[in-house]
Amino acid sequence: MSIAHSQLIETALHNAQAQRVELTLEQKEACKARVKALLKAKGAVIVAHYYTDSDIQALAEETGGCVADSLEMARFGRDHPAQCLLVSGVRFMGETAKILSPHKTVLMPSLNAECSLDLSCPVEEFSDFCDQYPERTVVVYANTSAAVKARSDWVVTSSIAVKVLTYLRGQGQSVIWAPDRYLGHYLRQQTQADMLIWEGSCVVHEEFKAEGIVTLKAQYPQAAVLVHPESPESVVAMADVVGSTSQIIQAAQDLPHSTFIIATDRGIFYKLQQTCPDKTFLVAPTAGVGATCQSCAHCPWMALNQLHNLADSLETGDNEVYIDPALISKALQPLERMLKFSRRV
Ligand code: SF4
Repeated sequence: MSIAHSQLIETALHNAQAQRVELTLEQKEACKARVKALLKAKGAVIVAHYYTDSDIQALAEETGGCVADSLEMARFGRDHPAQCLLVSGVRFMGETAKILSPHKTVLMPSLNAECSLDLSCPVEEFSDFCDQYPERTVVVYANTSAAVKARSDWVVTSSIAVKVLTYLRGQGQSVIWAPDRYLGHYLRQQTQADMLIWEGSCVVHEEFKAEGIVTLKAQYPQAAVLVHPESPESVVAMADVVGSTSQIIQAAQDLPHSTFIIATDRGIFYKLQQTCPDKTFLVAPTAGVGATCQSCAHCPWMALNQLHNLADSLETGDNEVYIDPALISKALQPLERMLKFSRRV
């Protein structure tokens, strides 16, 4: 990644950490009551990601919204009758909801909720790179801007990426992959696809440490290790299961183990504990040699979604997601391609 991109991510991280507000229990209850009343008044529904605060996930479920991975969030927002979607996640998720539901109002608790993968892949630079390899199919991760999606042939989420790359390899297509390099390496290893890989990374998953997992495994030898493929290769190599957030939740239910070491954002623990109340979940270590611990297993931009700004956004209508309609129609095509493909497999 270039120095300019690293600095951009550093600044965004610093700003995100500074913007987080601690609420008392009373303040949280008051905010929840406001959100419930405003959802009814505005005919809105909450579409939340697994990495948001447990308070937000619980409120989404209680009010008829959804808690899901980015693919399911996009589908839910499109298919739900509500004309106003309150997307609690990071900006590319709000943009994806708008692309799939252009006639709906899409609000976000904070428009400053970035993603290091999205920030690492500016459209001008990425487009110039793609122009050098016109024979290659451009496949981008969902964690990208609307403009980067519009430059691509396929958009994929981590839950469907292996299947899409396997399909493209079968078609004899060579690929440009962006922006997550760890996921790219994992996909190449799983599918043997011919891939040119962009050098982005997730600030949360990059920090998991194989040495720390070895130490934790010594304490809990019966534990299964569940890893998101945005993690480094050495961490992926230790996994019993590698998968997207929804695949990790499913694996925790399916495997006979009673203890799990989880290498993904700890926001997922709300859903893991809800679906497997008798099992024990441990956060994979982020400390150890080379640790910087900017995130400590929790995305600082996901943490910008807070009960008070959910209520404020609904009340004021601020933080609405706007995308140029011309860009929407271009970005829709690779997204629709993924959704159509997901119905076939
Ligand atoms: S956890 Fe990583 S990939 Fe997910 S939004 Fe945060 S920075 Fe982006």
